[in-house]
Amino acid sequence: MSGDWDVAVVGAGPAGATTAYLLARQGHRVALLDRQHFPRPKACAEYLSPGVRRVLEDIGLETQVLRGARQVSGMDVISPSGKILRLSYSQSGRAECAASLPRHTFDEALVRAAVDAGAQLHEGFVAHAVMRDDGRVRGVMGSTSGRSMQFRAPVTVVADGHRSTTSRSLGMARVPRWPFRMGLVAHAEGVALDGSYGQMHVTREGYCGIAPLPGGLFNVAMVVPVSALKRSRLSVASFFDAWIARHERLHAVLSGARLVSPVRGVAPIGSRASHASAPGALLVGDAAGFFDPFTGEGIYRALRGAQLAAETAEIVLSVPDIVDFSMYDRLRTREFRRKSAVTALVQVFVQHPAALDYAISRLRRREAALSTLANVLGDVEDAGQFLHPSMLWSALRP
Ligand SMILES: Cc1cc2nc3c(=O)[nH]c(=O)nc-3n(C[C@H](O)[C@H](O)[C@H](O)COP(=O)(O)OP(=O)(O)OC[C@H]3O[C@@H](n4cnc5c(N)ncnc54)[C@H](O)[C@@H]3O)c2cc1C
Repeated sequence: MSGDWDVAVVGAGPAGATTAYLLARQGHRVALLDRQHFPRPKACAEYLSPGVRRVLEDIGLETQVLRGARQVSGMDVISPSGKILRLSYSQSGRAECAASLPRHTFDEALVRAAVDAGAQLHEGFVAHAVMRDDGRVRGVMGSTSGRSMQFRAPVTVVADGHRSTTSRSLGMARVPRWPFRMGLVAHAEGVALDGSYGQMHVTREGYCGIAPLPGGLFNVAMVVPVSALKRSRLSVASFFDAWIARHERLHAVLSGARLVSPVRGVAPIGSRASHASAPGALLVGDAAGFFDPFTGEGIYRALRGAQLAAETAEIVLSVPDIVDFSMYDRLRTREFRRKSAVTALVQVFVQHPAALDYAISRLRRREAALSTLANVLGDVEDAGQFLHPSMLWSALRP
């Protein structure tokens, strides 16, 4: 089934499927490759920022992909001492919503959209490495059921997630510097929340998000140091229960709940890449780097990054002699740099409970700064707005 393609997309998660959809819709011959079969589960808190809805609307997929999603008004961030900061989104005075949908449904809807647009899906294909010729990536090789296969293409989209084999084969994957944490995720019913807002419980040993899902279910996702599980000598499921039981406010919300899925884990969280492009290749989604789920922008970045990758691929496919794909790095830097700075700033407060209490008590009294921060975290306002010195001062001054 291998053949010549315009674009080989490795990984059919949100980043790969969206890139494949956008390029197939323009009439390009796109091979969309994934080692798994869809629908497939994925350990994720399943919170879709309002920015995700915006991108889906922009690319004509909002109705199709968010069918059955649950509207979520925002998130309550709860500090270790119990201070609460409510984050709600709005634009021009009108409330905006986040959404939630199980990843097996969300990801499959994107894959189907790509296939309907003309992409050819190859499930069960495990990518091993990129193929190179004259220093340029010319496609990908791998195997399906033990049989070797190659997909040759002038553009290879690397979208195989946070442990990307393909970016490793390019020599572009980097070990994240800090810190070694893992994510544990399960679905629960019987959670003592009304479901209009999610909750993010910050503790001294990590954090735990509770997000309402369709059908009265809730997603419970914790991020804790990898060493905590090792030290406990417990199974993943017992550790999950014990960790919740140890945190009073979290336990109060979850004490009557029952898990209706296995506890799924990802460890360690985080990925980095030296660049987002190489001659012939574009890295999208977690393969291009992912820091931490606290600020919930992974899926937004996957989708927005897919738009930028598709724009770049359009240009390089129309002028076959282009070998320098670095325009894509510049587009990404311009798009994501400011939000990354806000994410890093938020992490400082999350790691320091006293600082978090200080920020919460200031922000609660400063409506404009709080609204800007919420919109920036929800990916519906440029992060530069929050980073402006006058805004930072008005948010955090004593
Ligand atoms: C605990 C946790 C909670 C999170 N919660 C949220 C949240 O609430 N909201 C949010 O926006 N983001 C969240 N994220 C981040 C989000 O999950 C990712 O940013 C998002 O999935 C990135 O999409 P992707 O398409 O790049 O990668 P993925 O979704 O990981 O997809 C990669 C695909 O590549 C395939 N693949 C991998 N290796 C190969 C190979 N060798 N050959 C072929 N195929 C391969 C995989 O099967 C997979 O389908 C969370 C992350 C974690 C760890």
